[in-house]
Amino acid sequence: MQPIGLFGGTFDPIHCGHLRTAFELWQELRLAEVRLLPAGHPPHRDQLYASAEMRLRMVRAAVADQPSFVVDDREVRRTGPSYSVDTLTELRREFPDRSLCLLLGMDAFLGLPQWHRWRDLLKLAHIVVAHRPGWRAPTSGPLGEVMVDHGTGTIRELHQRLAGCIYVHAGTQLEISSTELRALLVAGRDPRYLVPEEVRQIIFETRCYAPAQQAR
Ligand code: ATP
Repeated sequence: MQPIGLFGGTFDPIHCGHLRTAFELWQELRLAEVRLLPAGHPPHRDQLYASAEMRLRMVRAAVADQPSFVVDDREVRRTGPSYSVDTLTELRREFPDRSLCLLLGMDAFLGLPQWHRWRDLLKLAHIVVAHRPGWRAPTSGPLGEVMVDHGTGTIRELHQRLAGCIYVHAGTQLEISSTELRALLVAGRDPRYLVPEEVRQIIFETRCYAPAQQAR
């Protein structure tokens, strides 16, 4: 059976860098689906800008025409911090015989040692890392070590095993970030072509990134 891809994020807002990366990974790794999991209360973020409902609405709008992308709102519905290890534990229970691939950009991967029970993630899923402009793969430290112990160059292994491998994907690198998008919006500029048109419309209609309306 094909693996399931899990792509978490604050998606504040979702943008074409997220979507293109998820799409390329879905195709290249022959994933059954990519589940997008907007974070409710991410432990590493001091501040979110759009509300959880608004971020979820934008994610839903962004992927509505791509049936292989599934929106999973469990982290938004959960109270308390959104720990990935809890989400993966739940998903592992729901899909005991499926390979699960946690999809991360290189910047997120480099921050992994700060995540709650990060070493347990590899017991629950594979980790697939997408290169991101300006970030380089670790060669030393705890992440360099897990790359040596768990790294694989073959997609076949991601299909044959349920969890435990790290695979690095060098696809199209789009230098788009939610932080830069918010700055662009606050400056009164138009995010056209950096976000799907449906997301752009929601941002303009709701003014969810207008300074006075930012959610804490
Ligand atoms: P922010 O600028 O607010 O930190 P972000 O653009 O990094 O936001 P997140 O929602 O924090 O977006 O990221 C969710 C996931 O998507 C992370 O694993 C991140 O590394 C990845 N990601 C974000 N932008 C890109 C991009 N342009 N290319 C590849 N991966 C990306």
